[in-house]
Amino acid sequence: MNKELQIDAIKKDLSGKRVVVVGMATTGMAAAEFLVKQGAAVIVSEQKAEHELGASPQRLRSLGVKMELGKHSPQTFLSGNLIVLSPGVDPAIPPLEQARVKGIPIVSEVELASWFINLPLIAITGTNGKSTTTSLIGHILSGWGKKVFVGGNIGIPLTNHLLRGEEADYIVAEISSFQLEAISSFRPWIALLLNVGEDHLTRHPTLSSYAAAKARIFLNQGPKDWAVINHDDAIVRTLIPQIRAQLLTFSREGKKETGVWLEDRNTIVYKNKGGEERFSLTKVKIKGMHNCENIMAAIGAAKVCGVPQGVLQKSLESFEGLEHRLELVGEWRGVSVYNDSKATNVASAITALQSLEGPIILLAGGRDKGGAYSPLRGIIKERAKALILMGEAQSRMQAAFQDLAPVHLVDGMEDGVILAWKLAQGGDVILLSPACSSFDMFQDYQERGRIFKEMVLKLAGGEG
Ligand code: ADP
Repeated sequence: MNKELQIDAIKKDLSGKRVVVVGMATTGMAAAEFLVKQGAAVIVSEQKAEHELGASPQRLRSLGVKMELGKHSPQTFLSGNLIVLSPGVDPAIPPLEQARVKGIPIVSEVELASWFINLPLIAITGTNGKSTTTSLIGHILSGWGKKVFVGGNIGIPLTNHLLRGEEADYIVAEISSFQLEAISSFRPWIALLLNVGEDHLTRHPTLSSYAAAKARIFLNQGPKDWAVINHDDAIVRTLIPQIRAQLLTFSREGKKETGVWLEDRNTIVYKNKGGEERFSLTKVKIKGMHNCENIMAAIGAAKVCGVPQGVLQKSLESFEGLEHRLELVGEWRGVSVYNDSKATNVASAITALQSLEGPIILLAGGRDKGGAYSPLRGIIKERAKALILMGEAQSRMQAAFQDLAPVHLVDGMEDGVILAWKLAQGGDVILLSPACSSFDMFQDYQERGRIFKEMVLKLAGGEG
């Protein structure tokens, strides 16, 4: 039987099927629990040992789920009728390869969830801006009086939503390229692709394989569905011929026949066959050109849903943005401080540097992702007054930038913030925008951002 037919047969009836869930973090836990409810015989395989997993093993045991802890063994993987992959697991690990060879279907948690979703599904992917755009669309639809579940890669997994059985009018889901790699029939009504920049190169060998993974969001769409895409992104544009859904483009580069575009710094226009609507950015709180793109994408999706102009304008103005994304921590003696800890790649750090005014003291570094730092050179030369580098990427970054601005190497966040304060004068900006992931020194980017803010507030003696 081919893979599609096999998946079709399994999804019709999961009861009694042996399903191997790989990974025991939030997504794996939700998938396992959901599968138990469907009557499947579930076994969870997790690389970490029991003592590293908190209360999760106990919880699964109480549900009758079997577990393989501290390893991923081929026997376990080969014993499944279906394998459900968590987003954090490398799809190239040998037991998965062996399962592939044996023809065992491997799907991601969003694919599994999509078998049971019969609500309008709005799915957002891209290298940067996913969480902001996902939250903004959720905010707009809620502002219109709709019940919305916002989740996926941001917050609550989709299977968790299904488990809770809460009613909703729309599902708005952030989807990572890792999840898209293992889909088969996942089909959003509206799929948004925001941009394709260099990121995650340690897992995707080339930019084109990464772009191909992102393009899978359109794979199962038909002519009744919608694709909302960034027309300014050259890689995204190359995917247009593959898209069967109705196309709605957004662009910063001015007027198009239809779609969403930026008319001037403060005006966005949406146009379709029915006419034109204008949106003002004057009172919108989230700043920067990148957020302008996120707003245009969200307007595109909202208009497909039918949100009226007045409601949409109001929601754009009441959206506060998300923590750790170019978040203003405060201003002291003319020095403004921004926490952009979520900038875990080069593209998003470039965006931050472009969005702020004044000489910038940049705190960067962390776990290196294997990509080039050279795309940052131009903007660093133009905007950075000093660089304060930390973490594993320190020496690679120093080599990449030392001819452009004074470079200071520090041992950790505390030293970095103290030094930044010493260097700062009125009119300067202190910016944490690491261009690297946080896992060498912190649990995650949230912890990195929180510690940065705590240090700043401590040194500044309180709120700015
Ligand atoms: P994601 O969920 O894709 O990581 P976020 O909305 O959390 O995206 O933003 C992540 C980082 O990327 C932030 O530092 C933010 O400043 C930057 N960013 C947000 N939107 C965009 C965009 N459209 N283009 C480039 N960078 C962006």
